[in-house]
This record gives sequence, structure tokens and C-alpha cells, in this order.
Amino acid sequence: MKDKRLFTPGPTEVPKEVLKAISGKVMHHRKKEFSGIFENVIKNSAKVFRSQGEIFLFSSSGTGAMEASVVNFTSPGDKALVIISGKFGQRWAQLCSAFDVETEIIDCTWGEAVDPGKVRECLQSNPDIKAVFATLLETSTAVVHPIKELAEAVRDTNALLIVDAVSGLACEELETDQWGVDIVAAASHKALMNPPGLGLLCVGDKARQVYEKNTRKCYYWDLKKASASLKNLQTPYTPAVNMVYGLDKAIEMLLKEGMENVWQRHRDLATIAREGLKDMGLELFALSPSNGLTAVKVPEGKDCKKILTSLEEDARMVFAGGQSHLKGKIIRVAHMGWCFEKDIRRALDALKKELDKQ
Ligand code: PMP
Repeated sequence: MKDKRLFTPGPTEVPKEVLKAISGKVMHHRKKEFSGIFENVIKNSAKVFRSQGEIFLFSSSGTGAMEASVVNFTSPGDKALVIISGKFGQRWAQLCSAFDVETEIIDCTWGEAVDPGKVRECLQSNPDIKAVFATLLETSTAVVHPIKELAEAVRDTNALLIVDAVSGLACEELETDQWGVDIVAAASHKALMNPPGLGLLCVGDKARQVYEKNTRKCYYWDLKKASASLKNLQTPYTPAVNMVYGLDKAIEMLLKEGMENVWQRHRDLATIAREGLKDMGLELFALSPSNGLTAVKVPEGKDCKKILTSLEEDARMVFAGGQSHLKGKIIRVAHMGWCFEKDIRRALDALKKELDKQ
């Protein structure tokens, strides 16, 4: 039977070159051979993050990189500002709560992006805020947030700007150093075109001074230990060796295409998706729509579950529905990572046929 094509916002399609790299011979992670590949991945990931900062790799999903941010850059009792506009902003708040960080919350209507002015105001009235937790691409609503403007609002304060770019890295423009973003969390299985299994963290200079002095106890996620290992081109614990081969290959492919071209390809795919979906009479859910995925409202009288099941079983294409209160209400079409015009046009055709059938 034909394989199912993923149009989900993670995991995403993995190019055959990357799968081939992953299937290579397992190397020992403390040997020179592996350190060479590891060094390459770290050096080239920095070019994707557009940062001269430290890059950490964890054998984890994206949430691991998020947890690493909370435990290394906050202490119990610290105050943080969390921007919530969907499920993944909520995750920042849950992590803060799990690690005894007091939170000020900016609650955005789902589907809307945050107003940087509100962040500025909140920081002015709460000068004791140590960190601002934001999301580049809020996957649950397909919204992109104005990270550049948020960085401007945070720049002259004592707070760190910590951005979840798990979905956004490599499909949305992100100039980590130039914009002044302090910490960026990412993962392998979105626009980085790999299977799930690696969490990444990019840490700038201002942030580095914070984790170096942080006294909160943690173990697996300890960046002081990870940084000491990084100097020897190693990780403190056994890395997901074959996943590192995969990331090495994917990043080589992204850099060969050129990050500006990668961002442009995603802009073009998003335009095709938005226009095509609107032509079908569908309404976009996000008011600030991302380039990595597009969400549309399920038309009155149509059964979302039935549409998604038929697309999966008949067209062999997997799309995502809504999460939390948006279950049954939206369909999300991802065009992040290994996705090209012919793929998104095929997805739109299949969706149109299914909607016409219902
Ligand atoms: N943040 C965002 C924006 C995400 O889309 C996801 C995954 N859907 C996560 C965080 C969590 O990542 P993971 O499921 O890999 O832990």
C-alpha cells in the first residue's frame, strides 16, 4: 500500500538523503570520528539559528529543550512573563509552574499574535521579570509572532527573551543575534527535516552569563555540564548518534539551498496554501498566519474527523485537526521542511475533493 504523506506540523516528511544518513553505521560517541560530525552539526546549526552563540543538542523532543531553558535560566521564586496564544504558550506556563517560577501572563485570543506594546508595558510595571517566554510559530493556531519587535521590547531590560522555535526554525525568518533573541529552543522533526529525537538550544552571551551563575539544581539538562562537554566536542551523556548524522545531512541541505531561499520557499508555499484554501471558500483561522502551516476553519455542517480520516485512508495524506477547544473546528495543513509547490498543490487538490464529496 502507498505510504502516507505527512502534511502534519511535526513529525514532517524526511528526505531520503537524511534517512540514508541515519541508517549509517553506529559510531562510538567518544571517538574522534563522531566528534568530527558533531562539530560540523554544531557549527552549521549556528548558521540556521543565525547566531554565534552556544548550540546544545539533547536526545529529546522539543519539550526537552524547553525544559532545559526553564531550569537553566530561572531560579525558584523568579518572576517570568509568559505569552500564551495557544497550546505551546501554555506549555511554557506549565513548565514555569512545575519549576516554581511565578508568572505574569499575556493571554492572547487564539488565532491572534501578541501585541509587543503589551509586553513593553508588562515589563515596565514588573521590572523584576527575569525572563520572557514566547513562541515563534504557535503550532496549535498557525500564528507567527513578531519576535523581532518582542526582542526590541525586551532589549533594554534585565530580562532574557526565550523563544520556542520548535515549529518555526527554518520556516520563519529568525535572526537570533541581529534581533537580540537570547535563547532559542528547537527540535529535529519540523522544518529541520528529521524524525523526532533531537532537541536543540541556542544560547547567546547575555544568557550564558545567567546559566553560569544559576544555582538551581538539575541534572540531565544542566548547561554548565553540557558546555564543558561541548568544548571537547561531546555531550555529557550518550547522544542519539544516528540522529546526529541525520541532522548533519539535513542542515547541509538547508545551507546549500541558503537560509534566505529556504525562508522564501516557505513564504511561497504559504501563499499558495492560503490562496488555494480561500479559493475553496474556506476561512483562515490565524490573523497573523505563519509560513510553516496554514489553519482553516471547518465549514458549518462538515465533519472534521471524517474529512481527516478519508484523506488519510483514501488520499494517503495525513493532516492535523485542532487541539484543545479547536478540536473538530480547524484543519491544519503543514508546509514546513521537505515540502515543495507540487506537494502543497497535491494536498490542496485532495482536500478540495474531500470537501466536495461531503
Ligand atoms: N513547541 C511547539 C511550537 C511545537 O509545535 C511543539 C510540538 N508540536 C512543541 C513545542 C513540543 O515539542 P515536542 O512534541 O517535540 O516535545
